[in-house]
Amino acid sequence: MNGIVAVVGRPNVGKSTLFNRIVGKRMSIVDDTPGVTRDRIYAKAEWLGKEFMLVDTGGIEPDSKDVILSQMRMQAQLAIDKADVIIFVTDVTSGVTANDADVAAMLQKSGKPVVLCVNKCDGIGEVPPEFYEFYNLGLGDPIAVSSVHGHGTGDLLDAVFENMPEENPQREYSEDAIKVAVIGKPNAGKSSLVNKIAGEQRMIVSNIAGTTRDAVDTVIERDGQEYVLIDTAGIRRKSKVNEQIEKYSVLRAYMAVDRADVCVIMIDATEGFTEQDSKVAGYAHEQGKASVIAINKWDAVEKDGKTMQEFTKKLEVDFSFMSYAPFVFISALTGQRVDKLFEQIKYTYSQNIRRISTGTLNDMLGYATARVQPPSDKGKRLKLYYMTQASAKPPTFVIFCNDKELFHYSYQRYIENQIRESFGLDGTPIKIIARERG
Ligand code: GDP
Ligand code: GDP
Repeated sequence: MNGIVAVVGRPNVGKSTLFNRIVGKRMSIVDDTPGVTRDRIYAKAEWLGKEFMLVDTGGIEPDSKDVILSQMRMQAQLAIDKADVIIFVTDVTSGVTANDADVAAMLQKSGKPVVLCVNKCDGIGEVPPEFYEFYNLGLGDPIAVSSVHGHGTGDLLDAVFENMPEENPQREYSEDAIKVAVIGKPNAGKSSLVNKIAGEQRMIVSNIAGTTRDAVDTVIERDGQEYVLIDTAGIRRKSKVNEQIEKYSVLRAYMAVDRADVCVIMIDATEGFTEQDSKVAGYAHEQGKASVIAINKWDAVEKDGKTMQEFTKKLEVDFSFMSYAPFVFISALTGQRVDKLFEQIKYTYSQNIRRISTGTLNDMLGYATARVQPPSDKGKRLKLYYMTQASAKPPTFVIFCNDKELFHYSYQRYIENQIRESFGLDGTPIKIIARERG
């Protein structure tokens, strides 16, 4: 992932048209995850083989019903805080407006790289005379774009990548360090946990500039294992504006998940499971990351002998789409079971990178198909010939069969369960790919 690019500008200048043009068909990054609705404000996009996250700040509506300028300022401020490069979109048909000038000044003062897009330049090969006014905004050379027709967008993205800060290639932790993303709703206790961990342990490096620009990672050592806590600055540094806007915290969480080996999905025990929890958890699942579900503030829950069991039962339903993930009941405040949490992080990661030999897999396959016969349809029976592990992170198995159509979801599910029964693989998603062989 190559950083966050935010699109800022007045209403109706064409931000969402530009967004859709750049993103193309790859609209939502989390389409077929349980409980996830389509989100049009951010999406992964690609330019010349480089991936980045594009954000349309126009889709971020502040809670208050505000006048346009203050809304624009708020969106611009978010972009300044969170993005690596900002695309400032203006409209050639309306010329430079007072609001444009105001926001341009604010962007310029921030020192963030800004690319100035003059949209609705629909004519090919010539720009209208009004185009030159936009030099007055003091943001450098404007780029003429027609989001509707698509021309100019290549130049625009070239300029974006010219302005993208260099990644810091220097890693300040070892190859074996486990990268951990702590994700969850505001107030779940993420920063309390990070502070507790960082306070207790020998901190090897703090505030190193991470591999992505705004992310600041913390490296710690615990029982001889190095861990990188991803984007701890994003967790610790709190701004009222950001917290009001749930969408930004979700976006930030996605970026952290992308870089992580293991995700700690933190649930507030005093509030229980929420929709947003399933969103980020679903994303971690989809991306093939190991996950541990931490139920925090356990100290604040009134308990009798059955409470933990009851919690677990309910969460098993909420997280049924990732039933492999272990639960740990913790208190970031008192430090209760934080050791257990780290054991689970280490263990689930070891499962995520595991490789199982082809011989062992095929023994398992032979046994599984003998125990429950593969399904048949219209007189044709599914045959599973051979199985091998194609990759790790997450464990991905290729199964060769006579007819993919016959390899229904339910039988794949059965095979997955057999794999887990035989090999564990707790805490990690696994993937099964069916291939036909004549
Ligand atoms: P937003 O409010 O900034 O997200 O603006 P929209 O993307 O919704 O666009 C506002 C209007 O401008 C729509 O009617 C678009 O069809 C139109 N529009 C967007 N880009 C262009 C363009 O490049 N050329 C022309 N002629 N119209 C455009
Ligand atoms: P974040 O927004 O997820 O980083 O949450 P914070 O770490 O800022 O915590 C939000 C609030 O919950 C703070 O008032 C914390 O003191 C409190 N809190 C965090 N962890 C615990 C815990 O384990 N037990 C209790 N009782 N309170 C906690």
